[in-house]
Formats: sequence, C-alpha cells, structure tokens
Amino acid sequence: MPPPIPALIKQHRAYPRNGTEWAQAFRDADICDTVTAWGDDHSRNSIVLQAGEFVAVVPGGNRRDDALLQGQECVARVSRVALSGTLGPLVKLHWFYRHAELNIISTTNALTGAFVTSMGMKELLSLSCDTFDHADMVVRIVPVIEMSLTRPTFPIIDGTTLYFRNDFSLMRSWTKNKVTLLEGKGQLICSAACLFEGVYTPERDVIRYCTKCKRWFHIGCLKASDSKWPTLLPFPPSRPKQPELPKQSNDSVPMPGYLFTAMHYKFWHKMLLSPIQRGSSTVKFPLSFERLVDAIRSEQRSAGCPPDVFAFIDAELNVAPHLVDKAELYKAIFLELPKSIFYVCAWCPAAL
Ligand SMILES: [Zn+2]
Ligand SMILES: [Zn+2]
Repeated sequence: MPPPIPALIKQHRAYPRNGTEWAQAFRDADICDTVTAWGDDHSRNSIVLQAGEFVAVVPGGNRRDDALLQGQECVARVSRVALSGTLGPLVKLHWFYRHAELNIISTTNALTGAFVTSMGMKELLSLSCDTFDHADMVVRIVPVIEMSLTRPTFPIIDGTTLYFRNDFSLMRSWTKNKVTLLEGKGQLICSAACLFEGVYTPERDVIRYCTKCKRWFHIGCLKASDSKWPTLLPFPPSRPKQPELPKQSNDSVPMPGYLFTAMHYKFWHKMLLSPIQRGSSTVKFPLSFERLVDAIRSEQRSAGCPPDVFAFIDAELNVAPHLVDKAELYKAIFLELPKSIFYVCAWCPAAL
C-alpha cells in the first residue's frame, strides 16, 4: 500500500516547522537500514534510500536556507534514514554545493576563493551542515565519486560525472551569507616550487604520482626525464623470477617454465611503461587510469606478469560504478594511449 501523500502530512499539526523540530522528529523515529521514498507528488516510481547514497533533492526552502539556484536540484549525501510513525520515511542529509552555486556566493578569505576558482564544473564541495527532511523530497539517487589527493584511488569517470575532493568542506556563516574553506590534511599537491601554489584544478591540470613519495605533482612543475620508463618500487626477495623479454618467439604458446605466452609478457611490459597520471591534455575533466596502472605495478612487484594480461585489465580497470557498461570503451582508450614521456619527481630521483 502506498504511504500517505506528503502534502497531506504537511498540513498535520505535527509536521515540523523548523530545524529543531525536524531534529526532534528524527530522534523520535526508528533508525533503519533503508526507507522507501515515493516523491513529493507520487508521480514517479519509488526509490529505496540508505545511508551513504548521494541524492538530488528539490529544496523545500525551509530545509536548506541557502537554496541559491531557484528551482534547481541540490545534491546531498544521506547520512541516516529513519521511519516515523506520524511522518513516514525521514532522511538526514549532508549537503554539498555544486560548482554553479559557489560562483554566486561570497568567500571570506583568499584560500577559499582560490579553491572555489579551481573547482571543476562537475565538482561538488561538502558543506559542514546536516539537515533532516521527509524522504519524499528526494528526487533520485545520483552517482558521485570521491577524489583523494593523497593516493591514486580515483576511478575512471566521464565528463558528466559529479565528484568531490575528500578532506575539504565549507563552513557557512549564516548571518553574513559567506563561506569559509575548512582546511583538511594533505589538501595541497606538488612541491614548494609549485607554479600553482599547490592547488589542483581538475579541469586544467595533468598530474603525475610518485609511488615512493606518495605525492601528486603538476607535470608543468616537473623537469622532463631522460628515462624511457617509470621508476618502480623495489621488488621483495619473495617475488618469483621473470624471464628475459623474448626477441623472437612463438606468441601463442606459454613461455617455457611460465604460465604466460610471449604475447602477454610483451604486452605486460608495455603496460609497465604507463605513468600514474590524472587528467589529460585532450579532455577537460579528470580522466584517469591511475588505479589500473597502480594495480599493474603492485602485481609486478608481488607476482610479476599474470597468466592472462587482458583478464587482469578487465578486473582492475576500475570504471566508476555507474559507467560499468562502458568498460570496454575505456579499456580501448587505455590500450590506445600514446607512448608517454616521463618527469623527474620534485622530491626524489624517481621518473614519474
Ligand atoms: Zn605544481
Ligand atoms: Zn618522488
């Protein structure tokens, strides 16, 4: 049976009128794993909501007082869900600003201004603000990808994917209608001599990762290296020995004493020449195969060439969950990437 229509609930005298009453209503409700939302006017199919999901919400005006873009959807992450006996399904929402919203909001200091300017069109920025609402205000679940600037963990996204940098959030001054960036740990990249003050601009920058220093650097801030291959971390003594690269061989039969064929082995060595890079000079969003390349290097360190290199790529490609049906396309893009040049790390002698 469908739940009661929210418009009718809103007329009920128990319907919360402000943030404090919403918080009280949420405290009185039963916390659960999932709730089902039906939409404000029941004109769409139901959606099942749970903590951790990102959602688009049409601001009611009374929940998020800073609904700057009239009529446009806002993005929030569901922190908790609960079921109220009188109000029905409820959500606790942690809000994010969209890039477009931040263009028309005042910032309190230079760092906040520089960060907001560096943000990508599809980038979100966490707001240190949680509110409560009726689950039926949620329009739909939206895919949002978390970006770290300390490790190579970003999956493959496309130009329409929303993403946010972890460790950054904005604090809002409600009286002055201004926002301040709360500095997280490891928010800056690159070296002391960085040409961009350590700020990462996802739509402009191409950055390389040093696995030894565990740090990203703008390629524009690095010197080109003479090396024809990237520096790999040393192998542990337990790692199985690998054969010499065959010059001439029968590509279709396994190499003597090994599970892989010469074709797979040569291909594996070609992939070991890939840099751990985020961004590209050809697209205006942070396209990256960093997780795959990082996985290739880890495998090379622990076990060496896998028996089936193509199956390894399929397993480690790491396309964002909402793009898995496009995995073959991204695999083809990776396999056709042009040969890379390398750069000298600003902190150590490694070629990146
Ligand atoms: Zn730099
Ligand atoms: Zn380094």
